[in-house]
Order: sequence, then structure tokens, then C-alpha cells
Amino acid sequence: MPIADSRDRALRARAEAVIPGGMYGHQATGLLPDDYPQFFARGEGARLWDVDGRSYLDMMCAYGPNLFGYAHPEIDAAYVRQLGLGDTLTGPTELMVALAEALVAQVSHADWAMFCKNGTDATSMALVAARAQTRRKTIVRAKGAYHGAAPWCTPRGAGVLDTDRAHQIFCDYNDVASLEAAVAQAGDDLAAVFAAPFKHDAFVDQAAPDPAYARRARELCDARGAMLVVDEVRAGLRLSRDCSWSLVGVRPDLSTWGKCLANGHAISALLGSDSARKGAASIYVTGSFWYQAAPMAAALETLRLVRETDYLERLAALGERLRAGLAERAAAAGFGFRQSGPVQIPLFLFDDDPDLRKGFFWSSQMLARGVYVHPWHNMFLCAAMTEADIDGLLDAAEAAFADLRREAPGLGAVDKMAFLTAAASR
Ligand code: PMP
Repeated sequence: MPIADSRDRALRARAEAVIPGGMYGHQATGLLPDDYPQFFARGEGARLWDVDGRSYLDMMCAYGPNLFGYAHPEIDAAYVRQLGLGDTLTGPTELMVALAEALVAQVSHADWAMFCKNGTDATSMALVAARAQTRRKTIVRAKGAYHGAAPWCTPRGAGVLDTDRAHQIFCDYNDVASLEAAVAQAGDDLAAVFAAPFKHDAFVDQAAPDPAYARRARELCDARGAMLVVDEVRAGLRLSRDCSWSLVGVRPDLSTWGKCLANGHAISALLGSDSARKGAASIYVTGSFWYQAAPMAAALETLRLVRETDYLERLAALGERLRAGLAERAAAAGFGFRQSGPVQIPLFLFDDDPDLRKGFFWSSQMLARGVYVHPWHNMFLCAAMTEADIDGLLDAAEAAFADLRREAPGLGAVDKMAFLTAAASR
């Protein structure tokens, strides 16, 4: 079916009229290839169906939330059971205490937990809690790191005031000297250092945390009485059953969680150690839906699977298979193809591809073969994937590399951005 006749295009046309820009945020398809669908009909396990009935092995996993598989029978049964009992009530159910206990038992730095809905809620709450704890204003964080879409951290400037962004100093991830300089600049006003568990910025190669950087962040915070915050929203539970920085032996004061905490149900969390308890207890944070019981039931079931299954080891094994297989196929086709980041959260970029033209073309060829990959954002493996899924992906990749050898790709992302900007100004 030509794209122009698709249900997806019809929905986009309707959306143009009733949704500003037709779509917003990370799923605005402006920076995805044109043949990528915007609207989906359903998901099951590792697969996703778009509104035109095409199905994909979904390498995005909803940008992280899908850890055990879409429509997971046990997790969703726990959710539905609780819906029947009550979800949004005048106050929380006992599940809130049970979930806090489960997280405190699982995450070694955590002595307490608070719950909210999105990752941005959790990171914003960490910011406020750190400032309340230290009675200081300044935070240090890495350039290019995403911590959410609130005015203090949204990557776009529209509608944001300088004052929303005040009291923040930026450093380069993994660069100890720049971290030290930023902390020195904060002087005696340092409230917190924010850190992603590894460098997972879009458009560039990912990087593991340098243990020296993580340790120095801890030392600097200790020396200044500031809070160390690790933002686990994206990476949490895919690298470790504990906080990801337990892998480099560093304990934060605060950590922020979301996305896959309830395998896609709406809940996020701020975890803290006793060093941050007083500040957290003093702030006013809430939301109409923050005490919802059904996502807490789903989170408890997700955490049970985290504890009782070998999902983490399987994710790593699947990721290794994917990485080795893709490296082999890219090399055989003669492409410099970079796979960066942990194997469970990979990002793919082509060498010599400044406008992402090759990446866009290759991704489109993968999509046409039933694999939803992203040309410039990291992807996520889920425990519902099988070795056969990975092997199918590798077959698709081999064919997509061959297509790329044969055909000259059209517009890339940078071209496309320029094109869209020009179109918007017409
Ligand atoms: N922090 C990180 C590291 C993230 O990746 C994200 C979302 N991609 C957020 C915070 C914000 O989470 P949410 O979109 O759920 O608000």
C-alpha cells in the first residue's frame, strides 16, 4: 500500500487539525524516516503492530518501559486485579508501603522511596529534594544528557525562561577535570551533581561510565555536603538489579526510576538514602494520580520477575548475539557501523554519515523487513525477545546493508531538519 493511502497518514492529517503540530515530544516523527508509522494498534511480547496492520520486532520497547514484553500476562493480571479493587482512591493502598519496602530491599543505596508518574516527575523531585536537603541552589550536570521535559531540563528553549534554567552548571560526562571545574564554580552553593548511569545521549556514540568519574563525583559531593543523583530512568533494571552505579562501586544519595519499573504501567520513583531523607520529607510534591494502586501492583509483580528470573542474564546474552552478528554483517558489507553502549541498550551509527543519510536509509530498509530500529536514539532489548528474533533481525540487517550498498540514500536527518525548518518558515 502506498504510504499516502495509509491509515497512519489519514490519522496524521486528522491530528494536524486537533493536536498542535500533529504530534509532540519524542514521538514527533519529524526526525524519523518518512515511512515510519506514527500510530500503533497493539503490542504483544516483543512485537508491535501499527495501525496499518504491519508488525515489527520492536527494538525501541516503548523507549524503555517494555522490559518483560508487551501485554505481559502476570504483570497485567496484577494490574487488572487491582483495578477491580480500586486504583485512584482518596489515598494510597497498602501496596505503596509494600512497593517502597521492595525497592529498599532491592536497591542497595536506598533507605526510602517516593512515587510519581513520569521520569520527569522523579528527576524534578530529586532536584527539589536535593535543594531542600542542602539549602543550596546549584546543580552540576553533563551537557547533552536528557533528564526530562520540565522547564529546568527540557532540551527545547521555547516557552522556557532563563530563570527556569538558573543555578545549573554543565560539565562533560566522563571528564573528571570538567566535573571538578564545574563543582569549583558552584563554590559553596552546590546542591547536587546529576549523572546518567552511562552516557546515553542521542545522535552520538554512547559511553560506559569511567569509574574514576563516578568515584570523583561521589568524593566531590561528600566533600561539599552535596547530593549525588543517578538518573536511572532510562537504564534502570537493564544493567543491574541494583542501581547501575553499583557496577562501578558508587552509591548515590538519590536515584530516579521510571519507564520499565512497572513494565509500562504509569509509575516512577525517587529513591533515597538516609542522607537525603530530611529534605525529601520537607518538600511538597504530589499529583492526582501519584497514589494509584494498579501501577503499584504491576510494579510489585515486575520486581518479583526481576528477582526471580534470569531476565538480566538473558538480555545480556541476546545483546551479545546481536552485537556480534551485526558487527559481522556490517563488516562483510564493507560498512563502518558503530554499536555503542551496553549491549542491552544499543545505539547504531554509521561511519562517514554526517547527515545520518545512511542511518535513515538502513533503518527504513529494516522497517520494511519488520524490524523497528531507531536511526539516532538508543534502543532497548526486552526479555520477551528470543534468539530467533535476533537472528531474524540479523537476516534483515544483511539485506538492508546490501540495499545500502546498491542504492544512494536520499535525505538524511540533518537535511530533513533543514527542510522542515524551511517548510515551517514558509
Ligand atoms: N531521565 C532519563 C535518563 C530519560 O531517558 C528520560 C526519558 N527518556 C527521563 C528522565 C524523563 O522521563 P519521562 O519521559 O518518563 O518523563
